[in-house]
Amino acid sequence: MDGAELEVRTLGPCRIDSPLLPLLGERPTTQHYIDEGDKVLFDDTLTMISSRKVPLDELPGFEPAGPRRKIYFDPSKTRVGIVTCGGLCPGLNNVIRGLVLELTNHYGVNRIFGFRHGYQGFIAKYGHSVVDLTPERVAHIDEDGGTILGTSRGQQDPGEIVDCLSRMNINILFVIGGDGTLRGARAIADVVTERGEKIAVVGIPKTIDNDIPYIDQSFGFQTAFAKAAESIRAASAEATSAPGGVGVVRLMGRHSGFIACYATLAKSDADVVLIPELPFTLEGERGLLTYLRRRVEKRGHAVVVVAEGAGQDLVEGLPESSDASGNRKLFDIGPELSRRITDHFAEHGTELNLKYIDPSYHIRSVPANPYDNVYTIRLAHAAVHAAMSGRTEMVVGRWRRRFIHMPIELAVSHRNQVDPAGDLWMSVLEATGQPYRFG
Ligand code: ATP
Ligand code: MG
Repeated sequence: MDGAELEVRTLGPCRIDSPLLPLLGERPTTQHYIDEGDKVLFDDTLTMISSRKVPLDELPGFEPAGPRRKIYFDPSKTRVGIVTCGGLCPGLNNVIRGLVLELTNHYGVNRIFGFRHGYQGFIAKYGHSVVDLTPERVAHIDEDGGTILGTSRGQQDPGEIVDCLSRMNINILFVIGGDGTLRGARAIADVVTERGEKIAVVGIPKTIDNDIPYIDQSFGFQTAFAKAAESIRAASAEATSAPGGVGVVRLMGRHSGFIACYATLAKSDADVVLIPELPFTLEGERGLLTYLRRRVEKRGHAVVVVAEGAGQDLVEGLPESSDASGNRKLFDIGPELSRRITDHFAEHGTELNLKYIDPSYHIRSVPANPYDNVYTIRLAHAAVHAAMSGRTEMVVGRWRRRFIHMPIELAVSHRNQVDPAGDLWMSVLEATGQPYRFG
């Protein structure tokens, strides 16, 4: 990682006094304001830092999030758009509410428009009207899951989106969504730049799978794994209550098994966790099925947690298909795994009572828990400070517990995944007692 990759673009010099100054009293201390040029260091161990062999001020670092003394946009003339795209995730409404309250109460921005149903909301042919977002409108929306703005998948033309922003004289666009949404946001920012316009595009990354790189944790993730742990508990109750009881719980995690790992550690009832990062074999002496059957024969019951992206190589020859946004559709591992377990137990004459639980939609749509309430509002504050100071083509995040700005480019550069050689997976193995890998 070098410093240039962490640099965030700005629309221009900041010349306007921040209206937050009076809020902080006559003599705000430096802790309240971020000094331009300050950095949150990328490295945090002596070994990492000394191996760079560069002077201190050349160490790579993220731009710290937070209020600036001088801002770029004049709040009384600033018009803001907010959009949510992609799948549901706990905390979307909290982010919308946090943005609106910070913009209105602290910056005095009072023209905030919510665009309906993701990027469709900017495109005339869909005919979605915009929502006026006021503190009254967003007062209690954090109590509900989902998003009051709606969402969608499917490609929209960034040129047409910028046409709409220009027509409505929007200065700042906040985009709440996953990797696809952020790629869309980058395309929008590119058109803005090509046309020489001054519109800030700032993202609040949404991923229930916790797979955005370089950020400690994504919002909604903690709510999600807490809810997922309830399903593991239910599967365990079912399994222990029947002879030959086996519970199979399918959790989210298309490419990364964080929810499966954390939910398992939160409720240590699982005997086996399967994640996309570690391919596994079903058949054979060292395969999953034999392991599971022996476990049931010995202990009477077992619980298997499987992330949706695990074991995608188990079924061959399925036709490739994708959703409206071009994401490859996964085959549903849960029912397939349940079927293979059932067949295997039957072949060996072992009694089986299998219960299959798929709580995905239930988990996605619950309101955020208190931790995510706090996290989302702080991300929203950081996003507003960033945008008002003219930052663009960036997302807010938290790096080693500090809120930071990160270029979109970096946020979509790769996925954060469970490290099979790391301490998280080691803890899962310790909690379940399963082998490092099946097969
Ligand atoms: P999730 O994590 O739920 O998948 P996501 O943001 O990745 O969230 P997508 O459905 O993939 O969800 O994308 C959301 C929106 O972003 C869609 O309108 C999609 O067309 C758009 N989008 C996706 N990829 C790109 C891209 N490479 N360029 C421009 N727009 C994109
Ligand atoms: Mg995605």
